[in-house]
Amino acid sequence: MSFKLLAQGLANNPASLKRLWRSHPLKDRYQVVIIGGGAHGLACAYYLAKEHGITDVAVMEKKYIGHGGSGRNTTIIRSNYLMPGNVPFYELSMQLWEGLEQDLNYNAMVSQRGVLNLYHSDPQRDAYARRGNSMRLHGVDAELLNREQVREMVPYLDFESARFPVQGGLLQRRGGTARHDAVVWGYARGADMRGVDIVQGCEVTGIRIDSGRVSGVETTRGFIAAGKVALAVAGNSSRLAGMAGLRLPIESHVLQAFVSEAIKPLIDTVITFGAGHFYVSQSDKGSLVFGGDIDGYNSYAQRGNLPVVEDVCESSMALMPMLGRLRVLRSWGGIMDMSMDGSPIIDKTPVEGLYLNSGWCYGGFKATPASGLCFAHLIARDARHAAAAAYRLDRFATGRLIDEKGAGSQPNLH
Ligand SMILES: Cc1cc2nc3c(=O)[nH]c(=O)nc-3n(C[C@H](O)[C@H](O)[C@H](O)COP(=O)(O)OP(=O)(O)OC[C@H]3O[C@@H](n4cnc5c(N)ncnc54)[C@H](O)[C@@H]3O)c2cc1C
Repeated sequence: MSFKLLAQGLANNPASLKRLWRSHPLKDRYQVVIIGGGAHGLACAYYLAKEHGITDVAVMEKKYIGHGGSGRNTTIIRSNYLMPGNVPFYELSMQLWEGLEQDLNYNAMVSQRGVLNLYHSDPQRDAYARRGNSMRLHGVDAELLNREQVREMVPYLDFESARFPVQGGLLQRRGGTARHDAVVWGYARGADMRGVDIVQGCEVTGIRIDSGRVSGVETTRGFIAAGKVALAVAGNSSRLAGMAGLRLPIESHVLQAFVSEAIKPLIDTVITFGAGHFYVSQSDKGSLVFGGDIDGYNSYAQRGNLPVVEDVCESSMALMPMLGRLRVLRSWGGIMDMSMDGSPIIDKTPVEGLYLNSGWCYGGFKATPASGLCFAHLIARDARHAAAAAYRLDRFATGRLIDEKGAGSQPNLH
């Protein structure tokens, strides 16, 4: 593989590069239409083909694959959750990440460099101890570090004079990062190789329902009949569900990400600041990749506003004052599908043949492998996968919420 890359690089001939997925005429009917060419939609298509032999599938993407949050995130993967409904699901995802590159035969740059959540007060330490215990009870690795152990690991933090002194941290060594667009491309390639049609530049504009059952989708390229239709459109979930007459417990908010100029290797793990909302890692190119809170208002625009930039930079300076000398090269925004309890939905809808994958909030990238696997299971078998059994749509009516960090009707306060 590396020799092939080198040869192609030296040849400097783009035409010699093999395309990762085909482009082909759109059929007028598919067994399954997946709306949304993000990592979740593509992973679902991949597992439908691989695990269930269902290959008469189209993934419809209005722009290009990875155009949504899947190509915009800060690439953090972890399974350090608290709630019983969440831990097994995210741990399944972690285990799938660990074998993903072999499974896809594609370099997704999965890097288990550890995720360190810092705590800055006694109550926060107690909350992290509880989370760590919950993880260990589920067989997930977690270590509660004191201040000196954290200092040994990341000596460059401001331990002494910060307004919120670092007291310690919760470490998941198996957490880390994965290259987001490589994950999108790897799943696309794997699905395409198994016969799935990936259709870019085709927007779904309507969902046709006959006698309570879905019969297909209206698109900018005409009507396409479908036996089953699956929504995997993250920040656009409410819009698409609205086309089927459904109202979801989801709000769309913008989340921003930032990339600095490249520096020498400094941060060899993922660090999150516990006294504000700030998380940072260093890319292989040397840039620091970081982010913070969602912008405090609902939006479908994939761009952010300055108050949150200021907030993120303030948090970074509280933790590592030296970052004040760095220049930010790029920033962008993505649309988040914020659910009212902070946990996702992978379920059937009241419309027969219409399936929903949504509510990923800040954390859908790390969920990609398990989300794809469980969503494919649901679509193929019309039954929930055990790992996603709690992600029911009706929990918002029955009150069986998975309140990981839900802020109810104010997701901006997460
Ligand atoms: C700045 C930022 C940082 C993040 N950081 C992390 C992180 O570090 N770790 C983590 O786990 N998660 C993170 N996330 C969250 C994560 O990126 C998302 O939860 C995840 O990528 C959602 O994937 P998806 O496939 O469901 O949706 P998306 O990737 O958003 O894909 C949905 C696709 O649907 C398409 N679409 C929408 N409407 C239509 C239509 N009508 N017809 C056809 N196609 C349509 C869109 O164009 C889009 O490509 C972050 C998100 C952002 C924005």
